[in-house]
Amino acid sequence: MSKIAVIGIGPGSMADMTQRAKAAMENADIIMGYNTYIELVKKHFPGKEFLSSGMTREIERCRLALQKALEGKSVALISSGDSGIYGMAGIMLEVVNHSGIGIPVEVMPGVTAASAAAAILGAPIMHDFVVISLSDLMTPLEQIYKRVECAAQGDFVICLYNPKSKSRVDYIEKARDIVLKYRETTTPVGIVRNAGRENEASDMATLTNMLDFEIDMFTVVIIGNSKTYFENGRMITPRGYDL
Ligand code: SAH
Repeated sequence: MSKIAVIGIGPGSMADMTQRAKAAMENADIIMGYNTYIELVKKHFPGKEFLSSGMTREIERCRLALQKALEGKSVALISSGDSGIYGMAGIMLEVVNHSGIGIPVEVMPGVTAASAAAAILGAPIMHDFVVISLSDLMTPLEQIYKRVECAAQGDFVICLYNPKSKSRVDYIEKARDIVLKYRETTTPVGIVRNAGRENEASDMATLTNMLDFEIDMFTVVIIGNSKTYFENGRMITPRGYDL
């Protein structure tokens, strides 16, 4: 029977992809996804049919996946990182539910950008943390800032996804200013670009100077909590053990 697998491919390299994700893509008739991610995986799955589309075409992509599944194809719909974290899983489930068609949808997890970035930096999310996307395409900006404020107040480590794009250059500055109401200027901030991909890079900054570093749409910014520190080039949030 035809089905749809919504797959988190991890941050980028094949080494960070789960065996389950890889097997599902090998067994699929069609692999679908956003152009950038199709380009990342294409050479590893020769002979597959690929369907790629632009970033803001998620609903069309899911409808097409459903249509292909109804034609009897096994479809792998891919997201970067984890498919259920700002990925395609929720949209696909909603589109199938809305259609009333009983096509099975399997959701497969992947290594999300925050885990990949944290491992590069050291161990910054060893304690309670939150993930907040600064993209206001689907979420009102006041709600985003409110969540940043609550997270800062609660002393959570804060992982920021979608920190900056061409149309959103100052949201990161505003978020930083909100956090500064509750944390020291010297609070460590880890910045990781292209985790697990070509041109991977990371910087260790503070709340004061973090905006001097390169931050783009392939970056995760991890703001430490009140106990986070840098030592020997690694960013560590202590769990609380007595050493
Ligand atoms: N589903 C994805 C997140 C998609 S939202 C996941 O679980 O990782 C897109 C945002 O994720 C980007 O703006 C960036 O902040 C982050 N991101 C995704 N891949 C990344 C990578 N390889 N390196 C750094 N950040 C990444």
